[in-house]
Amino acid sequence: MRNILQQKISQFRDADLIRAQNVYPYFRVIESGQETEVVLNGRRVLMFGSNSYLGLTNHPRIAAAASRAIEKYGSGCAGSRFLNGTLDLHVELERRLAAYTGKEDAVLFSTGFQANLGALSALAGRADALLLDEYDHASIIDGSRLSFSRVFKYGHNDMHDLEHRLRNLPADAFKLIVTDGVFSMEGDIANLPAIIELADRYNAAVMVDDAHGLGVIGVNGAGTASHFGLTKETDLIMGTFSKSLASLGGFIAGDSGVIDYLKHKARSLIFSASMTPASTASVIAALDIIQEEPHRIQKLWDNTHHMLLLLKEQGFHTGDTQSPIIPVRIGDNHKTFLFTKILQEKGVFVNPVVSPAVPSESSLIRLSLMATHSFAQIEEAVDKMKETALELDLSLELKKESA
Ligand code: PMP
Repeated sequence: MRNILQQKISQFRDADLIRAQNVYPYFRVIESGQETEVVLNGRRVLMFGSNSYLGLTNHPRIAAAASRAIEKYGSGCAGSRFLNGTLDLHVELERRLAAYTGKEDAVLFSTGFQANLGALSALAGRADALLLDEYDHASIIDGSRLSFSRVFKYGHNDMHDLEHRLRNLPADAFKLIVTDGVFSMEGDIANLPAIIELADRYNAAVMVDDAHGLGVIGVNGAGTASHFGLTKETDLIMGTFSKSLASLGGFIAGDSGVIDYLKHKARSLIFSASMTPASTASVIAALDIIQEEPHRIQKLWDNTHHMLLLLKEQGFHTGDTQSPIIPVRIGDNHKTFLFTKILQEKGVFVNPVVSPAVPSESSLIRLSLMATHSFAQIEEAVDKMKETALELDLSLELKKESA
C-alpha cells in the first residue's frame, strides 16, 4: 500500500479501540441460515438481531422458487434494467408489488439503499427542498446529498418543527417530505396522518420508506400507508426485500407517471445491474406465502407483545416502540458493547447501537422479533438479558428509568 493511503487510514482508530477492549461486535461470522437459532463459532445461539421479521429466509417454497429461477434464467442478468437486464420475472414482481402496496405501478432496484439514492436524486434538484425526519435511514440522507437540493431535517416525528420548515418555503417550490414508516432503530411509527395533512396544506409531496413496515403493519402487511388508510395520499412508497420479504433488492411504488419518470432518471437503476433471477423469484414466492398465510404476521405480533411485556416486567426501558423492533436502553457505549458480548456468551445474538448512530447516553441494544420465534426462546432471551443486566449492575438503573 502506498504511503499516502496509509496516512489516510491511519487516522481511523475507532475499530481498533473497541477491539482493544475485546468487545468488538461487528462482522460476526454466521455459519448457518438466518433462523431463530444460528451457528456462531460452531455454537448455536438464539437470534434476536435479524430483520427477517416473518422468518421466511429458509422457507422451502422460496428456496425452490429461487432454484427454478436459476435453472431457467441463470445466476445473473449481466446488465441493468434499462438495457439488457429486464426479465419477465422483474415485470411480474413490479406488478405484484404495485397491487400489494395499492399503487398503480412499481419499479425494482437492486437494493433498498439504491432505491432511496435513485429516487431522491432523480426527484429533487438544486432548486428543490427535501424535508427529512432526523431519524431517517442513512440511505435517505445519502440520497438527499446526491440530489444537491436543500435539505431540512425536522425533529423526530415533530410535526410543529415540520410545519415551521414548510411554512418558510415558497408555496410553488418542489418540496418532498421523506420519512421512515417504521423507524429502524426506535421501532416507532411515523405520524403519517399529520404529515399528509401538512403536505396538503403546504403543497408538498410525501414519500415513505417502509423497509420495516412492509410485511409487518397494515392490511396483510401492506405497510404504514395501509396501516393509516392513507395509501392514495402517500405519493411514493419505498420498500426493501432484505427484511420481511426474505431476499435482496428494493422498490419504489407510486402513480405510473412518477414510476416511468424514475425508470428514466434514477441513476442507481440505469447504471447498475438488475436484481438476480433468484432474488426476484424469492420475493414473488415470499409475497405468495404472506398472502396465503396471514397467521405469520399475527404470530410476529404475538411474539412482539410477549417480549415487550417480559422486558417491561424486568424493568428494562424499551422506549416508544410500536413494532417488532425493540430498543433496550443501556445508556453507555462501553456497557452496550459489553452487554452484547456477555449475552452472546450466554447464547443470545443481539445488535448494539452506539454513538455516533445515537448519542452515547442513548446507546441501546436493538432486539428484533421473528414470526418463527417460540415463546420459550423469547423467555430464555429475556432471562439471559436480566442475568446480564445484573452482572453489569444495570438492572437498578434500568428500573429507575422505567418507573
Ligand atoms: N431504509 C431503511 C429504513 C432500512 O432500514 C434499510 C436497511 N437497513 C434500507 C432502507 C436499505 O435497504 P437494503 O438493505 O435493501 O439496502
